[in-house]
Amino acid sequence: MTRFIFITGGVVSSLGKGIASAALGALLQARGYKVRLRKLDPYINVDPGTMSPYQHGEVYVTDDGAESDLDLGHYERFTGVATRQSDNVTTGRIYSNVIARERKGEYLGATVQVIPHITDAIKEFVTSDLTDEDFVLCEIGGTVGDIEGLPFLEAIRQLGNELGRERALFVHLTLMPYIPAAGEIKTKPTQHSVKELLSVGIQADILVCRSDRPIPEDARRKLALFCNVQPERVIEALDVDTIYDVPNCYHEAGFDTEVLKRFGMAEGHESEVDLTAWRNTVHRIREPEGEVSIAVVGKYTNLLDAYKSLNEALGHGGIANNVRVKLDWIESEIFESDAEALARLEGVNGILVPGGFGERGAEGKVAAVTFARERKIPFFGICFGMQMAVIEAARNLAGVPGAGSTEFGECADPVVGLLTEWKRGNVVEQRSGADDKGGTMRLGAYPCRLAEGSRLAEIYGGELNISERHRHRYEVNIDYRERLEAAGLIFSGMSPDGVLPEIVELRDHPWFVGVQFHPELKSKPFHPHPLFASFIQAAIEQARLV
Ligand code: GLN
Repeated sequence: MTRFIFITGGVVSSLGKGIASAALGALLQARGYKVRLRKLDPYINVDPGTMSPYQHGEVYVTDDGAESDLDLGHYERFTGVATRQSDNVTTGRIYSNVIARERKGEYLGATVQVIPHITDAIKEFVTSDLTDEDFVLCEIGGTVGDIEGLPFLEAIRQLGNELGRERALFVHLTLMPYIPAAGEIKTKPTQHSVKELLSVGIQADILVCRSDRPIPEDARRKLALFCNVQPERVIEALDVDTIYDVPNCYHEAGFDTEVLKRFGMAEGHESEVDLTAWRNTVHRIREPEGEVSIAVVGKYTNLLDAYKSLNEALGHGGIANNVRVKLDWIESEIFESDAEALARLEGVNGILVPGGFGERGAEGKVAAVTFARERKIPFFGICFGMQMAVIEAARNLAGVPGAGSTEFGECADPVVGLLTEWKRGNVVEQRSGADDKGGTMRLGAYPCRLAEGSRLAEIYGGELNISERHRHRYEVNIDYRERLEAAGLIFSGMSPDGVLPEIVELRDHPWFVGVQFHPELKSKPFHPHPLFASFIQAAIEQARLV
Protein backbone atom coordinates (compact mmCIF):
# COMPACT_ATOMS: atom_id res chain seq x y z
CA MET A 1 0.00 0.00 0.00
CA THR A 2 1.43 3.37 -1.04
CA ARG A 3 1.03 6.21 1.44
CA PHE A 4 1.24 9.86 0.43
CA ILE A 5 2.91 12.61 2.41
CA PHE A 6 2.19 16.14 1.18
CA ILE A 7 4.63 18.86 2.13
CA THR A 8 3.57 22.49 1.97
CA GLY A 9 5.39 25.63 3.09
CA GLY A 10 4.22 28.72 4.86
CA VAL A 11 5.22 32.14 6.24
CA VAL A 12 8.15 32.76 3.87
CA SER A 13 9.76 31.07 0.89
CA SER A 14 13.26 29.54 0.86
CA LEU A 15 12.72 27.54 4.04
CA GLY A 16 14.27 24.47 2.47
CA LYS A 17 11.16 22.44 1.72
CA GLY A 18 13.12 20.45 -0.82
CA ILE A 19 15.74 19.45 1.69
CA ALA A 20 13.08 18.80 4.33
CA SER A 21 11.27 16.46 1.94
CA ALA A 22 14.49 14.79 0.83
CA ALA A 23 15.63 14.29 4.43
CA LEU A 24 12.31 12.76 5.48
CA GLY A 25 12.56 10.49 2.44
CA ALA A 26 16.04 9.44 3.51
CA LEU A 27 14.84 8.68 7.05
CA LEU A 28 11.96 6.52 5.85
CA GLN A 29 14.40 4.79 3.54
CA ALA A 30 16.76 4.19 6.47
CA ARG A 31 13.86 2.38 8.11
CA GLY A 32 13.66 0.05 5.16
CA TYR A 33 10.82 1.65 3.24
CA LYS A 34 10.77 2.31 -0.48
CA VAL A 35 10.25 5.99 -1.24
CA ARG A 36 9.66 8.27 -4.20
CA LEU A 37 9.72 12.05 -4.11
CA ARG A 38 7.77 14.41 -6.32
CA LYS A 39 7.46 18.12 -6.79
CA LEU A 40 4.45 20.13 -7.95
CA ASP A 41 5.46 23.57 -9.21
CA PRO A 42 2.71 26.20 -9.47
CA TYR A 43 4.32 28.43 -12.12
CA ILE A 44 3.04 28.64 -15.72
CA ASN A 45 6.20 27.61 -17.61
CA VAL A 46 5.81 24.07 -18.94
CA ASP A 47 9.18 23.29 -17.36
CA PRO A 48 12.03 25.42 -16.03
CA GLY A 49 14.13 24.74 -19.16
CA THR A 50 13.64 28.17 -20.67
CA MET A 51 14.01 30.12 -17.43
CA SER A 52 17.07 32.14 -16.59
CA PRO A 53 19.20 30.63 -13.83
CA TYR A 54 18.68 33.92 -12.01
CA GLN A 55 14.94 33.24 -11.95
CA HIS A 56 14.93 29.63 -11.11
CA GLY A 57 18.37 28.40 -10.15
CA GLU A 58 19.73 25.24 -11.68
CA VAL A 59 17.69 23.18 -14.10
CA TYR A 60 18.07 19.60 -12.94
CA VAL A 61 18.07 17.01 -15.71
CA THR A 62 16.83 13.46 -15.18
CA ASP A 63 17.94 10.30 -16.98
CA ASP A 64 14.76 10.35 -19.06
CA GLY A 65 15.51 13.87 -20.24
CA ALA A 66 13.22 16.02 -18.10
CA GLU A 67 14.34 19.57 -17.41
CA SER A 68 13.15 19.86 -13.88
CA ASP A 69 13.28 21.63 -10.57
CA LEU A 70 16.50 21.66 -8.58
CA ASP A 71 14.74 20.03 -5.64
CA LEU A 72 14.81 16.80 -7.63
CA GLY A 73 18.58 17.01 -7.23
CA HIS A 74 18.17 17.01 -3.45
CA TYR A 75 15.81 14.06 -3.70
CA GLU A 76 18.36 12.05 -5.66
CA ARG A 77 21.31 13.04 -3.50
CA PHE A 78 19.49 12.18 -0.28
CA THR A 79 17.80 8.95 -1.35
CA GLY A 80 19.79 7.70 -4.32
CA VAL A 81 16.48 7.08 -6.14
CA ALA A 82 16.80 8.27 -9.75
CA THR A 83 14.16 10.90 -10.48
CA ARG A 84 12.08 10.94 -13.64
CA GLN A 85 9.92 13.21 -15.77
CA SER A 86 6.98 11.87 -13.80
CA ASP A 87 8.37 13.36 -10.57
CA ASN A 88 7.96 17.03 -11.46
CA VAL A 89 5.06 18.90 -12.97
CA THR A 90 4.10 22.55 -13.34
CA THR A 91 0.80 24.39 -13.76
CA GLY A 92 1.88 25.00 -17.36
CA ARG A 93 2.29 21.30 -18.13
CA ILE A 94 -0.97 20.36 -16.41
CA TYR A 95 -2.90 23.00 -18.37
CA SER A 96 -1.21 22.21 -21.67
CA ASN A 97 -2.11 18.51 -21.25
CA VAL A 98 -5.71 19.33 -20.34
CA ILE A 99 -6.03 21.75 -23.26
CA ALA A 100 -4.57 19.17 -25.66
CA ARG A 101 -7.18 16.69 -24.45
CA GLU A 102 -9.92 19.26 -24.85
CA ARG A 103 -8.82 19.91 -28.46
CA LYS A 104 -9.04 16.19 -29.16
CA GLY A 105 -12.61 16.24 -27.89
CA GLU A 106 -11.84 13.98 -24.96
CA TYR A 107 -14.08 15.86 -22.53
CA LEU A 108 -17.17 14.94 -24.52
CA GLY A 109 -18.78 18.35 -24.63
CA ALA A 110 -18.14 19.28 -20.99
CA THR A 111 -17.16 22.77 -19.90
CA VAL A 112 -13.52 22.27 -18.94
CA GLN A 113 -12.89 23.75 -15.47
CA VAL A 114 -10.27 24.02 -12.75
CA ILE A 115 -12.40 21.72 -10.63
CA PRO A 116 -12.66 18.90 -11.62
CA HIS A 117 -10.53 18.81 -14.79
CA ILE A 118 -7.35 20.54 -13.66
CA THR A 119 -7.52 19.03 -10.18
CA ASP A 120 -8.14 15.57 -11.68
CA ALA A 121 -5.08 15.98 -13.90
CA ILE A 122 -3.01 16.93 -10.83
CA LYS A 123 -4.31 13.94 -8.86
CA GLU A 124 -3.57 11.66 -11.79
CA PHE A 125 -0.04 12.98 -11.91
CA VAL A 126 0.54 12.46 -8.19
CA THR A 127 -0.75 8.89 -8.19
CA SER A 128 0.53 7.54 -11.52
CA ASP A 129 3.78 5.89 -12.63
CA LEU A 130 4.28 4.19 -9.27
CA THR A 131 5.13 0.58 -8.58
CA ASP A 132 5.51 -0.74 -5.06
CA GLU A 133 6.54 2.42 -3.23
CA ASP A 134 5.70 2.51 0.48
CA PHE A 135 5.73 6.29 0.55
CA VAL A 136 5.36 9.02 -2.02
CA LEU A 137 6.50 12.38 -0.68
CA CYS A 138 4.96 15.16 -2.66
CA GLU A 139 6.26 18.68 -2.21
CA ILE A 140 4.12 21.62 -3.29
CA GLY A 141 6.22 24.54 -4.51
CA GLY A 142 5.60 28.10 -3.38
CA THR A 143 4.04 29.29 -0.16
CA VAL A 144 0.53 28.70 1.13
CA GLY A 145 -1.55 31.74 0.18
CA ASP A 146 -0.09 32.11 -3.32
CA ILE A 147 -2.82 32.37 -5.95
CA GLU A 148 -1.09 29.93 -8.31
CA GLY A 149 -0.88 27.25 -5.68
CA LEU A 150 -4.62 26.96 -5.10
CA PRO A 151 -5.47 24.23 -7.66
CA PHE A 152 -2.63 22.10 -6.27
CA LEU A 153 -3.84 22.55 -2.69
CA GLU A 154 -7.38 21.71 -3.77
CA ALA A 155 -6.12 18.58 -5.54
CA ILE A 156 -4.18 17.34 -2.51
CA ARG A 157 -7.12 18.17 -0.25
CA GLN A 158 -9.31 15.96 -2.42
CA LEU A 159 -6.66 13.25 -2.44
CA GLY A 160 -6.39 13.41 1.35
CA ASN A 161 -10.12 12.84 1.55
CA GLU A 162 -10.16 10.04 -1.02
CA LEU A 163 -7.14 8.19 0.35
CA GLY A 164 -8.17 8.58 3.98
CA ARG A 165 -6.06 9.14 7.08
CA GLU A 166 -4.33 5.77 6.75
CA ARG A 167 -2.83 6.79 3.44
CA ALA A 168 -2.42 10.57 3.42
CA LEU A 169 -0.60 12.97 5.71
CA PHE A 170 0.04 16.70 5.57
CA VAL A 171 3.31 18.24 6.70
CA HIS A 172 3.57 22.02 6.89
CA LEU A 173 6.97 23.70 7.04
CA THR A 174 7.08 27.15 8.58
CA LEU A 175 9.36 29.72 10.15
CA MET A 176 9.46 30.62 13.83
CA PRO A 177 11.17 34.01 13.88
CA TYR A 178 13.05 35.27 16.90
CA ILE A 179 12.30 38.89 17.79
CA PRO A 180 15.30 40.31 19.63
CA ALA A 181 13.38 43.25 21.17
CA ALA A 182 10.91 40.85 22.76
CA GLY A 183 13.55 38.19 23.39
CA GLU A 184 11.08 35.63 22.10
CA ILE A 185 10.42 33.13 19.35
CA LYS A 186 7.11 33.99 17.74
CA THR A 187 4.41 31.45 16.92
CA LYS A 188 1.91 33.83 15.32
CA PRO A 189 3.13 33.62 11.68
CA THR A 190 2.89 29.83 11.90
CA GLN A 191 -0.59 30.04 13.40
CA HIS A 192 -1.71 32.24 10.51
CA SER A 193 -0.17 29.97 7.94
CA VAL A 194 -1.84 26.89 9.41
CA LYS A 195 -5.14 28.80 9.39
CA GLU A 196 -4.61 29.74 5.74
CA LEU A 197 -4.09 26.08 4.93
CA LEU A 198 -7.20 25.20 6.91
CA SER A 199 -9.19 27.73 4.91
CA VAL A 200 -8.64 25.54 1.83
CA GLY A 201 -9.65 22.48 3.78
CA ILE A 202 -6.29 21.06 4.79
CA GLN A 203 -5.48 20.40 8.44
CA ALA A 204 -1.73 20.05 8.92
CA ASP A 205 -0.82 16.86 10.79
CA ILE A 206 2.80 17.72 11.47
CA LEU A 207 4.44 21.13 11.71
CA VAL A 208 8.11 21.41 10.93
CA CYS A 209 9.33 24.71 12.32
CA ARG A 210 12.53 26.31 11.13
CA SER A 211 14.22 28.27 13.86
CA ASP A 212 17.66 29.66 14.57
CA ARG A 213 17.44 28.61 18.22
CA PRO A 214 15.76 25.87 20.27
CA ILE A 215 11.98 26.22 20.49
CA PRO A 216 10.93 26.49 24.15
CA GLU A 217 8.40 24.00 25.44
CA ASP A 218 5.73 26.69 26.02
CA ALA A 219 5.96 27.90 22.42
CA ARG A 220 5.58 24.35 21.21
CA ARG A 221 2.51 23.82 23.44
CA LYS A 222 1.00 27.10 22.29
CA LEU A 223 1.43 26.15 18.64
CA ALA A 224 -0.01 22.72 19.22
CA LEU A 225 -3.03 24.21 20.95
CA PHE A 226 -3.77 26.86 18.35
CA CYS A 227 -2.94 24.74 15.32
CA ASN A 228 -4.79 21.63 16.37
CA VAL A 229 -1.77 19.29 16.34
CA GLN A 230 -0.19 17.22 19.09
CA PRO A 231 2.78 18.90 20.84
CA GLU A 232 5.19 16.12 19.77
CA ARG A 233 4.15 16.79 16.18
CA VAL A 234 5.66 20.26 16.33
CA ILE A 235 9.06 19.33 14.98
CA GLU A 236 11.94 21.65 15.68
CA ALA A 237 14.14 22.23 12.61
CA LEU A 238 17.17 24.17 13.72
CA ASP A 239 19.65 25.75 11.33
CA VAL A 240 22.57 23.42 10.60
CA ASP A 241 26.05 23.90 9.19
CA THR A 242 25.65 21.18 6.56
CA ILE A 243 22.48 20.00 4.84
CA TYR A 244 23.64 16.41 5.27
CA ASP A 245 23.02 16.76 9.00
CA VAL A 246 19.31 17.39 8.43
CA PRO A 247 18.30 13.69 8.46
CA ASN A 248 20.15 13.20 11.78
CA CYS A 249 18.52 16.29 13.31
CA TYR A 250 15.04 15.41 12.09
CA HIS A 251 15.40 11.94 13.49
CA GLU A 252 16.41 13.31 16.88
CA ALA A 253 13.45 15.68 16.74
CA GLY A 254 11.17 12.70 16.15
CA PHE A 255 10.00 13.59 12.64
CA ASP A 256 10.08 10.12 11.09
CA THR A 257 8.70 8.54 14.27
CA GLU A 258 5.75 10.93 14.29
CA VAL A 259 5.05 10.26 10.61
CA LEU A 260 4.95 6.54 11.25
CA LYS A 261 2.89 6.96 14.43
CA ARG A 262 0.35 9.03 12.57
CA PHE A 263 0.07 6.22 10.01
CA GLY A 264 -0.14 3.69 12.84
CA MET A 265 3.14 2.07 11.78
CA ALA A 266 5.56 3.13 14.52
CA GLU A 267 5.67 0.21 16.89
CA GLY A 268 9.13 -1.18 17.56
CA HIS A 269 10.82 0.47 14.62
CA GLU A 270 13.43 2.46 16.51
CA SER A 271 16.07 -0.29 16.52
CA GLU A 272 15.85 -0.56 12.74
CA VAL A 273 16.93 2.98 11.94
CA ASP A 274 20.46 2.96 10.64
CA LEU A 275 21.84 6.44 10.20
CA THR A 276 25.52 5.46 10.34
CA ALA A 277 26.20 6.57 6.78
CA TRP A 278 24.67 10.00 7.46
CA ARG A 279 26.64 10.41 10.68
CA ASN A 280 29.87 9.40 8.95
CA THR A 281 29.23 11.84 6.14
CA VAL A 282 28.69 14.72 8.56
CA HIS A 283 31.80 13.71 10.48
CA ARG A 284 33.89 13.78 7.31
CA ILE A 285 32.50 17.19 6.39
CA ARG A 286 33.15 18.65 9.84
CA GLU A 287 36.55 17.12 10.48
CA PRO A 288 38.49 17.24 7.21
CA GLU A 289 42.21 16.51 7.15
CA GLY A 290 43.06 19.38 4.85
CA GLU A 291 41.72 21.95 2.47
CA VAL A 292 41.94 22.71 -1.24
CA SER A 293 40.70 25.77 -3.04
CA ILE A 294 38.87 25.60 -6.35
CA ALA A 295 38.00 28.56 -8.53
CA VAL A 296 34.68 28.19 -10.33
CA VAL A 297 34.75 30.56 -13.29
CA GLY A 298 31.16 31.02 -14.38
CA LYS A 299 28.45 33.45 -15.22
CA TYR A 300 25.77 33.19 -12.57
CA THR A 301 28.18 33.18 -9.68
CA ASN A 302 26.23 35.57 -7.48
CA LEU A 303 23.35 33.12 -7.32
CA LEU A 304 24.64 29.85 -5.95
CA ASP A 305 21.33 28.10 -6.61
CA ALA A 306 22.31 28.32 -10.29
CA TYR A 307 25.11 25.84 -9.56
CA LYS A 308 23.42 23.76 -6.88
CA SER A 309 24.46 20.29 -8.02
CA LEU A 310 27.94 21.48 -8.92
CA ASN A 311 28.40 22.96 -5.47
CA GLU A 312 27.30 19.68 -3.90
CA ALA A 313 29.38 17.50 -6.23
CA LEU A 314 32.54 19.46 -5.43
CA GLY A 315 31.75 18.94 -1.75
CA HIS A 316 31.33 15.22 -2.41
CA GLY A 317 34.76 15.21 -4.07
CA GLY A 318 36.04 16.66 -0.79
CA ILE A 319 34.23 13.98 1.24
CA ALA A 320 35.85 11.30 -0.94
CA ASN A 321 39.30 12.71 -0.19
CA ASN A 322 38.74 13.88 3.38
CA VAL A 323 39.37 17.52 2.60
CA ARG A 324 37.34 20.69 2.77
CA VAL A 325 36.79 22.22 -0.66
CA LYS A 326 36.90 25.98 -0.49
CA LEU A 327 35.17 27.51 -3.47
CA ASP A 328 35.97 30.84 -5.04
CA TRP A 329 33.09 31.76 -7.37
CA ILE A 330 34.41 34.10 -10.03
CA GLU A 331 32.42 36.00 -12.65
CA SER A 332 34.32 35.21 -15.86
CA GLU A 333 33.71 38.66 -17.33
CA ILE A 334 36.27 40.15 -14.95
CA PHE A 335 39.00 38.41 -16.96
CA GLU A 336 37.89 40.27 -20.08
CA SER A 337 38.01 43.81 -18.78
CA ASP A 338 40.95 43.54 -16.44
CA ALA A 339 44.12 41.63 -17.37
CA GLU A 340 45.32 41.83 -13.78
CA ALA A 341 42.25 39.92 -12.63
CA LEU A 342 43.84 36.59 -13.59
CA ALA A 343 46.03 37.02 -10.52
CA ARG A 344 43.01 35.85 -8.57
CA LEU A 345 43.68 32.39 -9.98
CA GLU A 346 47.28 32.36 -8.74
CA GLY A 347 46.80 30.50 -5.50
CA VAL A 348 44.04 28.08 -6.40
CA ASN A 349 44.50 24.31 -6.56
CA GLY A 350 42.00 23.73 -9.33
CA ILE A 351 39.95 25.66 -11.87
CA LEU A 352 36.49 24.63 -12.99
CA VAL A 353 34.50 26.17 -15.82
CA PRO A 354 30.89 25.00 -15.48
CA GLY A 355 27.97 24.82 -17.90
CA GLY A 356 26.57 28.01 -19.32
CA PHE A 357 24.77 29.70 -22.17
CA GLY A 358 25.50 32.69 -24.38
CA GLU A 359 28.42 34.82 -25.34
CA ARG A 360 28.66 37.05 -22.28
CA GLY A 361 31.74 36.05 -20.31
CA ALA A 362 32.84 33.37 -22.81
CA GLU A 363 36.20 34.99 -23.56
CA GLY A 364 36.86 35.28 -19.82
CA LYS A 365 36.32 31.55 -19.53
CA VAL A 366 38.74 30.93 -22.41
CA ALA A 367 41.29 33.07 -20.55
CA ALA A 368 40.80 30.94 -17.42
CA VAL A 369 41.39 27.79 -19.50
CA THR A 370 44.63 29.24 -20.89
CA PHE A 371 45.75 30.02 -17.35
CA ALA A 372 45.00 26.49 -16.12
CA ARG A 373 46.68 24.89 -19.13
CA GLU A 374 49.84 26.95 -19.04
CA ARG A 375 50.27 26.90 -15.25
CA LYS A 376 49.44 23.19 -15.12
CA ILE A 377 46.65 23.73 -12.61
CA PRO A 378 44.04 20.94 -12.55
CA PHE A 379 41.26 21.97 -14.91
CA PHE A 380 37.72 20.64 -15.19
CA GLY A 381 35.45 21.92 -17.99
CA ILE A 382 31.79 20.93 -17.87
CA CYS A 383 29.56 21.24 -20.96
CA PHE A 384 30.09 24.90 -21.95
CA GLY A 385 33.37 24.64 -20.01
CA MET A 386 34.49 21.78 -22.25
CA GLN A 387 33.48 23.73 -25.34
CA MET A 388 35.56 26.71 -24.19
CA ALA A 389 38.51 24.39 -23.46
CA VAL A 390 38.36 22.97 -26.98
CA ILE A 391 38.16 26.46 -28.49
CA GLU A 392 41.17 27.48 -26.39
CA ALA A 393 43.17 24.45 -27.54
CA ALA A 394 42.18 25.07 -31.16
CA ARG A 395 43.30 28.68 -31.04
CA ASN A 396 46.45 28.34 -28.99
CA LEU A 397 47.70 24.81 -29.67
CA ALA A 398 46.26 23.70 -33.00
CA GLY A 399 46.76 26.92 -34.96
CA VAL A 400 43.11 27.70 -35.61
CA PRO A 401 42.96 31.37 -34.58
CA GLY A 402 39.38 31.87 -35.77
CA ALA A 403 38.02 29.06 -33.55
CA GLY A 404 34.67 29.85 -31.95
CA SER A 405 31.16 28.58 -31.31
CA THR A 406 28.19 29.18 -33.58
CA GLU A 407 26.20 29.76 -30.38
CA PHE A 408 27.58 33.31 -30.63
CA GLY A 409 26.84 33.74 -34.36
CA GLU A 410 28.77 32.97 -37.54
CA CYS A 411 32.48 32.34 -37.07
CA ALA A 412 35.48 31.54 -39.29
CA ASP A 413 36.17 28.19 -37.64
CA PRO A 414 33.09 26.66 -35.99
CA VAL A 415 34.99 24.32 -33.66
CA VAL A 416 31.77 24.18 -31.64
CA GLY A 417 28.60 24.06 -33.74
CA LEU A 418 24.85 23.49 -33.59
CA LEU A 419 23.94 19.88 -32.95
CA THR A 420 21.56 19.07 -35.80
CA GLU A 421 21.25 15.31 -35.72
CA TRP A 422 21.95 12.57 -33.18
CA LYS A 423 20.62 9.21 -32.11
CA ARG A 424 18.65 8.48 -28.98
CA GLY A 425 18.59 4.67 -28.90
CA ASN A 426 17.30 3.82 -32.36
CA VAL A 427 15.56 7.13 -32.88
CA VAL A 428 17.23 9.85 -34.93
CA GLU A 429 16.67 13.28 -33.36
CA GLN A 430 16.85 16.24 -35.73
CA ARG A 431 17.06 19.94 -34.92
CA SER A 432 17.47 23.21 -36.72
CA GLY A 433 18.16 26.76 -35.62
CA ALA A 434 14.48 27.57 -36.15
CA ASP A 435 13.19 25.10 -33.53
CA ASP A 436 11.35 26.14 -30.38
CA LYS A 437 13.69 26.72 -27.46
CA GLY A 438 11.78 24.64 -24.90
CA GLY A 439 12.71 20.96 -24.51
CA THR A 440 14.68 20.78 -27.76
CA MET A 441 18.23 20.36 -26.48
CA ARG A 442 20.04 17.03 -26.30
CA LEU A 443 18.64 16.07 -22.93
CA GLY A 444 19.03 13.23 -20.47
CA ALA A 445 21.17 10.12 -20.25
CA TYR A 446 23.28 9.07 -23.20
CA PRO A 447 25.89 6.33 -23.39
CA CYS A 448 29.53 7.18 -23.89
CA ARG A 449 32.42 4.93 -24.81
CA LEU A 450 35.76 5.60 -23.14
CA ALA A 451 39.07 5.08 -24.91
CA GLU A 452 41.00 2.16 -23.48
CA GLY A 453 44.06 3.21 -21.56
CA SER A 454 42.87 6.80 -21.19
CA ARG A 455 42.97 8.71 -17.93
CA LEU A 456 39.21 8.74 -18.05
CA ALA A 457 38.95 4.95 -18.21
CA GLU A 458 41.12 4.83 -15.10
CA ILE A 459 38.99 7.43 -13.31
CA TYR A 460 35.85 5.43 -14.05
CA GLY A 461 37.51 2.35 -12.54
CA GLY A 462 38.20 0.56 -15.81
CA GLU A 463 34.58 0.72 -16.98
CA LEU A 464 34.55 1.70 -20.65
CA ASN A 465 30.81 2.08 -21.21
CA ILE A 466 29.38 4.87 -19.13
CA SER A 467 26.14 6.84 -19.10
CA GLU A 468 25.87 10.50 -18.17
CA ARG A 469 23.25 13.21 -18.40
CA HIS A 470 23.25 15.92 -21.03
CA ARG A 471 21.76 19.35 -21.62
CA HIS A 472 23.20 21.18 -24.59
CA ARG A 473 22.42 22.44 -28.05
CA TYR A 474 25.96 22.68 -29.41
CA GLU A 475 28.76 20.15 -29.71
CA VAL A 476 32.44 19.91 -30.53
CA ASN A 477 32.83 19.62 -34.29
CA ILE A 478 34.71 16.42 -35.16
CA ASP A 479 35.97 17.94 -38.40
CA TYR A 480 38.66 19.51 -36.19
CA ARG A 481 39.47 16.32 -34.32
CA GLU A 482 42.67 15.42 -36.19
CA ARG A 483 44.18 18.87 -35.81
CA LEU A 484 43.27 19.00 -32.14
CA GLU A 485 44.64 15.54 -31.45
CA ALA A 486 47.88 16.37 -33.19
CA ALA A 487 48.11 19.34 -30.83
CA GLY A 488 47.72 17.16 -27.72
CA LEU A 489 43.97 17.13 -27.02
CA ILE A 490 42.82 13.53 -26.67
CA PHE A 491 39.22 12.59 -27.47
CA SER A 492 38.91 10.00 -24.74
CA GLY A 493 35.13 9.61 -24.72
CA MET A 494 32.83 9.47 -27.73
CA SER A 495 29.19 8.60 -28.35
CA PRO A 496 29.07 4.86 -29.19
CA ASP A 497 28.58 5.65 -32.91
CA GLY A 498 31.80 7.66 -32.75
CA VAL A 499 30.15 10.86 -33.94
CA LEU A 500 29.81 13.07 -30.85
CA PRO A 501 32.82 14.03 -28.75
CA GLU A 502 31.88 13.52 -25.09
CA ILE A 503 35.21 13.90 -23.29
CA VAL A 504 38.53 15.52 -24.05
CA GLU A 505 41.70 15.44 -21.99
CA LEU A 506 45.00 17.16 -22.45
CA ARG A 507 48.23 15.25 -22.77
CA ASP A 508 51.18 16.50 -20.69
CA HIS A 509 49.06 18.12 -18.02
CA PRO A 510 48.51 16.92 -14.44
CA TRP A 511 44.70 16.91 -14.81
CA PHE A 512 42.87 18.59 -17.65
CA VAL A 513 39.47 17.16 -18.52
CA GLY A 514 36.48 18.52 -20.42
CA VAL A 515 33.15 16.69 -20.49
CA GLN A 516 30.14 17.49 -22.66
CA PHE A 517 27.78 16.03 -20.05
CA HIS A 518 26.93 17.09 -16.49
CA PRO A 519 28.53 14.64 -14.05
CA GLU A 520 27.49 16.83 -11.11
CA LEU A 521 23.89 15.68 -11.56
CA LYS A 522 24.70 12.13 -10.55
CA SER A 523 27.07 12.75 -7.65
CA LYS A 524 25.86 11.75 -4.19
CA PRO A 525 27.31 12.20 -0.71
CA PHE A 526 27.62 8.43 -0.24
CA HIS A 527 28.79 7.91 -3.83
CA PRO A 528 30.86 10.90 -4.91
CA HIS A 529 31.13 11.04 -8.68
CA PRO A 530 34.50 9.59 -9.79
CA LEU A 531 35.32 12.67 -11.86
CA PHE A 532 34.85 14.99 -8.88
CA ALA A 533 36.73 12.64 -6.55
CA SER A 534 39.60 12.53 -9.05
CA PHE A 535 39.58 16.29 -9.70
CA ILE A 536 39.81 17.05 -5.98
CA GLN A 537 42.54 14.45 -5.60
CA ALA A 538 44.48 16.23 -8.35
CA ALA A 539 43.90 19.52 -6.52
CA ILE A 540 45.37 17.96 -3.36
CA GLU A 541 48.46 16.93 -5.36
CA GLN A 542 48.70 20.43 -6.75
CA ALA A 543 48.46 21.90 -3.24
CA ARG A 544 51.36 19.67 -2.16
CA LEU A 545 53.53 21.01 -4.96
CA VAL A 546 53.08 24.71 -4.16
N1 GLN B 1 25.42 26.60 -24.32
C1 GLN B 1 26.04 25.34 -24.60
C2 GLN B 1 25.18 24.47 -25.47
O1 GLN B 1 24.01 24.67 -25.57
C3 GLN B 1 26.42 24.61 -23.32
C4 GLN B 1 25.23 24.20 -22.53
C5 GLN B 1 25.59 23.83 -21.11
O2 GLN B 1 26.67 24.17 -20.62
N2 GLN B 1 24.70 23.16 -20.42
O3 GLN B 1 25.70 23.55 -26.04
